Amino acid sequence: MTSMRCVVVREHGGFDKLRLEERPIPTPGPGQVRVKLAAIGLNHLDTWVRRGVPGHTFSLPQVPSSDGCGVVDAIGHGVSNCKEGDAVVVLPGVSCGVCEACQLGQDNLCRSFHILGESCDGLCAEFAVVPAANVANKPRLLSAEEGASICLVFQTAWNMLIRRAALRAGETVLVHAGLSGVGSAAVQIANALGARVIATAGGPEKCARVAALGAHHVIDYKAKDFATEVRALTGKAGVDVVFEHVGQATFDASVKCLARGGRVVTCGATTGGSVQLSLHQVFFKNLSILGSTMGQKGDLRTILRMFDQGRFRAVLDRALPLAEVGEAHRLLESRAAMGKLVLVP
Ligand SMILES: [Zn+2]
Repeated sequence: MTSMRCVVVREHGGFDKLRLEERPIPTPGPGQVRVKLAAIGLNHLDTWVRRGVPGHTFSLPQVPSSDGCGVVDAIGHGVSNCKEGDAVVVLPGVSCGVCEACQLGQDNLCRSFHILGESCDGLCAEFAVVPAANVANKPRLLSAEEGASICLVFQTAWNMLIRRAALRAGETVLVHAGLSGVGSAAVQIANALGARVIATAGGPEKCARVAALGAHHVIDYKAKDFATEVRALTGKAGVDVVFEHVGQATFDASVKCLARGGRVVTCGATTGGSVQLSLHQVFFKNLSILGSTMGQKGDLRTILRMFDQGRFRAVLDRALPLAEVGEAHRLLESRAAMGKLVLVP
């Protein structure tokens, strides 16, 4: 076998722009490994690569997808951290490894930081070549499908709550969309930290699943106004941290939910990125507005160890064949999924 199937985006647009193509199986160079993928995890980032982002240029054609799980099937010269046959997950962030930020462990602040499947070919394929630094042993309790669904979202949620917002035991956090990829990771991380977790979800079924992940209160945002509910649940005090990734539709109310000294931390804007903000409430209430993208590889290794200890669990909706990538994007965009979506090559 010398060729493989992969998904390629050649131009931005609808689901039909996800083309299934044949390419030669790549060969790992020095310091690289080749992974035979058993499962590929989808994120909202995949839909942005397909649709395009105003003001941002992707280098098309591109293979999307940033999360994957499989087996190392070839290693390049000088690789010593893994061997052929190892079951691994792929760590999605790539950095230079030699700059000051990298050497401080802040690889997501490296000037050449990029994400597999965003600014270079990603994992939506039968095989992928990645730097050896970008593989780690698959947590043994997880299936390949589960392993493919955790890295990007847990790394993102961890960086937001722990590195940026410095959430502490005893504090209260509001997590939007607690059954979404980053939301379900945030609920579990905040619970593990010892924080009180208030989450939102759309509909009774999703609310029940978020409660089972460790949220102490779940607000059905389709039935109730979340800001009013947060006010009631906190005795009018507000929450210490809001975990934001929804953007325009929720940001104003998120800021109003903050207690004095509160922090809102955002990693995304699925409903739009332009928001209104009153500086009066920012300074009068001593608020912090924090941005966050991805996270540190070292933290991701801690997260994987916690999966090995059974402290976290993957929240999977379903696995689909690679050829149904368009349907997977549709499910992701329609918010019909009850967890992460995975493709199987
Ligand atoms: Zn660097």
